[in-house]
Amino acid sequence: MTSVRILGVRVDDVTLDGAAEAVLARVRVAREGPARETRPEATSERAARRLWVLTTPNPEMIMTARARPDFAAILDQADLAVPDGVGLLWAARRQGTPLRERVAGCDLLGHILERGAGEKLRVFFLGAAPGVAEEAARRCRENYPGLEIAGTYHGYFGASEDRQVAGRVARSGAEFVAVGMGSPRQERWVQAARAALEGPESRVAVAMPVGGSLDVLSGRRKRAPDWASRLGLEWLVRLLSQPARWRRAPTLARFVLAVLRERT
Ligand code: UDP
Repeated sequence: MTSVRILGVRVDDVTLDGAAEAVLARVRVAREGPARETRPEATSERAARRLWVLTTPNPEMIMTARARPDFAAILDQADLAVPDGVGLLWAARRQGTPLRERVAGCDLLGHILERGAGEKLRVFFLGAAPGVAEEAARRCRENYPGLEIAGTYHGYFGASEDRQVAGRVARSGAEFVAVGMGSPRQERWVQAARAALEGPESRVAVAMPVGGSLDVLSGRRKRAPDWASRLGLEWLVRLLSQPARWRRAPTLARFVLAVLRERT
């Protein structure tokens, strides 16, 4: 797979379908355990148990990474970094390394759940306000028959509870955990939880930070209409419909300026 760097952050040139398939393929590998011919045992078992981590870089996250090397390192270590945002497509095109398509985290999560249902994927929804993950789970059980909800937990706990929550996810039997606590909190939680999620009692194969997607799945937040996404204006509709997002506008402007200043 080809990757590009946008203001130093790696982004993979992957499609929505390709990303969903990669996630499910990883879950299948973990289910089957290490292939016999790839022994010695210890190495291949460890490889099969290694947590696969997605990231969904957008302009804001890229600007955070520029200011915070530890966050930049987290993004760099991702197994799959999908381009979440038209700003990234614009920046990539401008620097002569175009990306095929925008992969919105929310769309990718929907694809994974829909396809995963056919394979009885076991998922954990972690994040959002108390009650939201449960409501998202209830709706998903209805909309995606076959999907197994291994557990849910809200996203309002302190860093001191990270390990405890990681243990809960690890013991749930989930194979896929969607972490919706906003960035960079969600990416940091995944990093802190890695040891537990790779532990002997865990079945978690893939972790995906999903931002506000649990709010969308629960019906509490509406996605921008299709026409807006088609025109690449989803960010504008979100700015207008969620006034709290205005505080993010200066960051988006700084992203545009930084890209314009880059030598091409
Ligand atoms: N959130 C959380 N814990 C926190 C702060 C936020 O679980 O400490 C949740 C919040 O309820 C929302 C999500 O994280 O569901 C963040 O949504 P946002 O719109 O910021 O993310 P985006 O969709 O822009 O990535």
